[in-house]
Amino acid sequence: MTKAVYPGSFDPMTNGHRDIIARAASVFDEVVVSVMVNVSKKYLFTVPERLNLLSESLKDLPNVRVRAYEGLLIDLVREEKVDVIVKGLRNATDFDYENTMDFYNKRMAPQVESVYLMASHEYVHLSSSAIRELMAFGGDVSGLVPPLVEEALRLR
Ligand code: ADP
Repeated sequence: MTKAVYPGSFDPMTNGHRDIIARAASVFDEVVVSVMVNVSKKYLFTVPERLNLLSESLKDLPNVRVRAYEGLLIDLVREEKVDVIVKGLRNATDFDYENTMDFYNKRMAPQVESVYLMASHEYVHLSSSAIRELMAFGGDVSGLVPPLVEEALRLR
């Protein structure tokens, strides 16, 4: 039984996130999607809103669970007793960032492996920040985020 955690801010969740989660769910027995909370950051959606959008948009995936965590990823890993950290890689910027994160995570928990899934080609340019910006100026985000997220963005 292999348990994985997929951390992120999901502000908001995109179809790129969903793609990684669905692919991780087909590889691992259980996937915990964790909204990582940083009190010093400003978000568009509250934690309960992000959790609700995630769980509603992932309810067809029975081995996926959604939660929030405030603190270090490695402490969540210990609390949940996960075997693997899953990350999505879009480009060299993600690679450099994740390479550094891996250095710190390995120092603190050398037994925990990280597994990187390459972004699907149609989502390689997709980020939560681009979605927020596009929406702020009334741009079209259809097909880039789950329908429920699109609706929530329209109401903002
Ligand atoms: P973002 O970088 O879009 O603000 P998060 O901080 O929530 O998103 O990212 C959580 C994880 O999802 C990270 O591993 C990130 O690299 C990955 N990710 C984000 N967007 C995509 C995408 N379009 N395709 C694949 N992976 C992605």
